[in-house]
Amino acid sequence: MSTTKLIDGKAAAARVLTQVKEDVATLKRDGIEPALAVILLGEDPASQVYVRNKILRAEEAGIRSLEYRLGTDTSQAQLLNVIAELNADPGVNGILLQLPLPAHIEEARALQAIDPRKDVDGFHSENVGGLSQGRDVLTPCTPSGCMYLLREACGDLSGKHAVVIGRSNIVGKPMAALLLQAHCSVTVVHSRSTDAKSLCQLADIVIAAVGKPRLIDASWLKPGAVVIDVGINRIDDQGRSRLVGDVDFDSALPQVSAITPVPGGVGPMTIAFLMKNTVTAALQQAQAQRSQSEAVCLSIY
Ligand code: NAP
Repeated sequence: MSTTKLIDGKAAAARVLTQVKEDVATLKRDGIEPALAVILLGEDPASQVYVRNKILRAEEAGIRSLEYRLGTDTSQAQLLNVIAELNADPGVNGILLQLPLPAHIEEARALQAIDPRKDVDGFHSENVGGLSQGRDVLTPCTPSGCMYLLREACGDLSGKHAVVIGRSNIVGKPMAALLLQAHCSVTVVHSRSTDAKSLCQLADIVIAAVGKPRLIDASWLKPGAVVIDVGINRIDDQGRSRLVGDVDFDSALPQVSAITPVPGGVGPMTIAFLMKNTVTAALQQAQAQRSQSEAVCLSIY
């Protein structure tokens, strides 16, 4: 198997995290200690693993982490109270509400309650709107990680035709907005598209965010396309459970110029960009607090 085509998300995430660690150290020297609060409702095993990993990465980067583990039966009002307390706490720079939430919680209302300046997931409507207007806002971590990988793999993205498969609020839509900002021509396909495959065949860049194991094989891809596989699907492979993407990796590999593996592609980038967003939020909040004359003279981003 050719390894030159592999886009190594683990290595890229390590580079991002090294930079984040350096930035945290710089901020601390200036009296700013970035802090991330993570709220987890319920006992979902996958969410528990994600939260553990986020806390671990934060600690490694020198970011203070606060963990709020709330019971499955936590009411909407109780959750909103916790969020309000964290919003009001100047020692907390980032607030992450781990999804999915129990069915009785209104997800949109809970996400909307987070102060947009502390919204390190970039899901608040103010940040979503800002992204679509091309303003400098906190942007969702997974699409930001994909952009980093794409820039490393392709260099200038201007003028390239990108097809995004999937239109979720978490991945597909912000991904399309970021690609547009990078001057790509962007096509978004979804479950109602009648011509997803033929549109995909025209793409220089394919972002697969569907949640369907190995849906996209070589027949969907233009020779030389760059493929970013966001999908994480657990399948039973001859009695053994394993993770695969939305792209049929073995089929696609000979056809593409570069591709992310699953695991080890986009996954590690999501956490790395959560840390980067936390540092950005901490810096922006500190800058807002300080007067013009003593503005924080850090040129981190
Ligand atoms: P989602 O909310 O379920 O959205 C899936 C999207 O795929 C929807 O827009 C859906 O269309 C579209 N779709 C479904 N079947 C399709 C088909 N046959 N052809 C074209 N489009 C189709 O999922 P998500 O949250 O975006 O996540 C997508 C995948 O990425 C999942 O595997 C998830 O686990 C993974 N993920 C990974 C990371 C990471 O860190 N690597 C982060 C987030 C998500 P409709 O809108 O018409 O229903």
